[in-house]
Amino acid sequence: MSRDEFRQYGKETVDYIVDYLENIQKRRVVPAIEPGYLKDLIPSEAPNAPESFESVMEDFEKLIMPGITHWQHPRFHAYFPAGNSFPSIIADMLSDAIGCVGFSWVSVKAACPAMTELELIMLDWFGKMIGLPAEFLPLTENGKGGGVIQSSASECNFVTLLAARFEIMKELRQRFPFVEEGLLLSKLIAYCSKEAHSSVEKACMIGMVKLRILETDSKFRLRGETLRNAIQEDRNLGLIPFFVSTTLGTTSCCSFDVLSEIGPICKENELWLHVDAAYSGSAFICPEFRPLMNGIEYAMSFNTNPNKWLLINFDCSTMWVRDRFKLTQALVVDPLYLQHSWMDKSIDYRHWGIPLSRRFRSLKLWFVIRMYGIDGLQKYIREHVRLAKKMEAMLRGDAKFEIVNEVIMGLVCFRMKGDDETNQTLLTRLNASGRIHMVPASLGDRFVIRFCVCAENATDKDIEVAYEIISQAAQHVLHDSVK
Ligand code: PLP
Repeated sequence: MSRDEFRQYGKETVDYIVDYLENIQKRRVVPAIEPGYLKDLIPSEAPNAPESFESVMEDFEKLIMPGITHWQHPRFHAYFPAGNSFPSIIADMLSDAIGCVGFSWVSVKAACPAMTELELIMLDWFGKMIGLPAEFLPLTENGKGGGVIQSSASECNFVTLLAARFEIMKELRQRFPFVEEGLLLSKLIAYCSKEAHSSVEKACMIGMVKLRILETDSKFRLRGETLRNAIQEDRNLGLIPFFVSTTLGTTSCCSFDVLSEIGPICKENELWLHVDAAYSGSAFICPEFRPLMNGIEYAMSFNTNPNKWLLINFDCSTMWVRDRFKLTQALVVDPLYLQHSWMDKSIDYRHWGIPLSRRFRSLKLWFVIRMYGIDGLQKYIREHVRLAKKMEAMLRGDAKFEIVNEVIMGLVCFRMKGDDETNQTLLTRLNASGRIHMVPASLGDRFVIRFCVCAENATDKDIEVAYEIISQAAQHVLHDSVK
């Protein structure tokens, strides 16, 4: 593709994007295809001769689009929002054009200083915006803290576990110099609640440490007393508690573990406290939600995904640590070809995570924060919360339904009064219609349906339409069950 062709096709593609998003509600939310549908439509071998942009785009609309789940559709209410906005798309285009791979501040051949420096400044801005204690912020004078952008919350959960594991193993090796390392490792135990994201379990599995999954209270929150008892029981068994992964805004029902109770217990027992606020962390830009973070001063690490609820396209998962050396000591490997003369004066983000190569993700944060302003972003979050409460009120006013979670952010968990099978039938029927998309969760061993406000410009009308679709389908389910 020549530069002139790129100029033309690039503009056509921007037009395509705007038209797609403007008319997205005309499409089914979820595709009506069977697994493997594409295999029969695309040639089994790659083409030898170049093809035209027009023919590729034609196939994109004809073959790919029918297999797309439209996460930006006003009737998409599954999972959590997939952040998206025009400023973020533009920043990603620029990042793609620069096309650099910024693993170090600077080095002889590669990397990119502006990328590292903007990441530092954005983690400082965003950390301040959500009210993180100054010890976490990268630019606090003489501070030990720091922030980094990872690809996903799963990765944040994993690297913090690795950091905590490294720290405890360092201490244990000193205390028990003659005990085999494998034996020490086999004694380590981490904790999370039943509602923690599955990535915590995965992190422990890969990290080869035991995980104890703890019960929650009636509001699906991990409480201090439960943790205290578990630690005591495990110590009595000769195990070594070292890591607690808490969640602010759980995936299943957006509940908030009680950090103010858990924090002091972690401090007392010298456990690494991690806080996963993948979805709800962005809401802390609104001061009224910050009491949910009380106890954050005890945390060693915190993560949230602006690519979920801050209008930033995937990927952009921000993570802060109270002591950056405790993170990097677990991850530093320094071959000669990656060393450079500025190492003692700069941050090399290659030591903060698993990949070496990194995208210019801070550019998206910079564009979005500047172009919406904190005011615009607060308005967006508050509007989603208001609309979730509207849906909650409509469902509460309908005798067919019950609400199962405490609606604090943009997520409503509900079910039809009746058994799990009835609710499974309802959800299957709704998703098969292609008119709306939601996913289930299991709460207190009951099947519940999650309704999340996701679209950037969701309106009252959207919520009313969604409620009507749900209520009518429930009516049909009831009707069919008495036949
Ligand atoms: N943690 C929580 C609390 C989540 O809700 C999710 C996903 O929804 C994750 C972790 C995993 O996020 P990611 O897809 O960024 O790995």
